[in-house]
Amino acid sequence: MKIVTELYARNVLLYCPHCGNEEDGFVVNPAGLEFTCDHCNKPYKVHSEADIEHK
Ligand SMILES: [Zn+2]
Repeated sequence: MKIVTELYARNVLLYCPHCGNEEDGFVVNPAGLEFTCDHCNKPYKVHSEADIEHK
């Protein structure tokens, strides 16, 4: 049997702190990085210790 040694988190999403709209498409852990909302074009930063919730 083949063994998987790497796990990939896809479809990471968060909610814009300005307008509350859903932002997704993050392919890496966005913690500690800064982004601009696609909806309201305001900048925000993701807390460096933000956790990825697995649903
Ligand atoms: Zn926004």
